[in-house]
Amino acid sequence: RSYELLQKLIGTLTTMDTVSAPMAGLSVEDTFEAHLISLAGRAASPSSGSGSDIASLYSVLKTFWLPSCSDYLGFTASGNQSVTTHRFFFWDPQPLVFNGVACAVCTAPLTNRGRITSGALGVYDLTGPFYIIGCVYACTNDHVHASTDESVRRALPQSLQGEFPALLLDNDRCVTRDGWSSELRGVSRAVWNLVQGGLRAGLEVDIILRVVRAV
Ligand SMILES: [Zn+2]
Repeated sequence: RSYELLQKLIGTLTTMDTVSAPMAGLSVEDTFEAHLISLAGRAASPSSGSGSDIASLYSVLKTFWLPSCSDYLGFTASGNQSVTTHRFFFWDPQPLVFNGVACAVCTAPLTNRGRITSGALGVYDLTGPFYIIGCVYACTNDHVHASTDESVRRALPQSLQGEFPALLLDNDRCVTRDGWSSELRGVSRAVWNLVQGGLRAGLEVDIILRVVRAV
């Protein structure tokens, strides 16, 4: 039932003109390409002396969110055209879990085969969309998953699962998508919680959707 609600929500939200262009700066596609390059660099791990599997985004900046500029500081104040205001989230939980992540099909450990370079998942949020960059995870029996797949996230510790900021449609098909698409594939937790709160308050779904659209 909640999946049907999610479908209805995304169906309604995607019919709107939600993707407002920023005043200037990099496009969503160019931002994605730039982030893929920056994520390819790994921080050296002082303890082991070799390169760590953990992205420096996680180990140094301690966040899953890639940097983005405010409209004011990026453009109004500086006039810089090579910055971005698009929000991107990088989801690579496998190296963060001490005992590894098991394949949902055969329970063999998953290894990371790199970032999904074909595109990111667009997520509707109250302040405009954000985009999730995932990784390809595969086991020794060649079962291939996206790090964003629900079957992968279910195998993570609860506290780590809770860091994932969205509810997605077509949960286990993300890795097969090819070509860039900024089409919305999910809604943020904030939107979802707003909808759930409206339902608990006894509001009709259509009323809640009008509220979400009006934000
Ligand atoms: Zn497997």
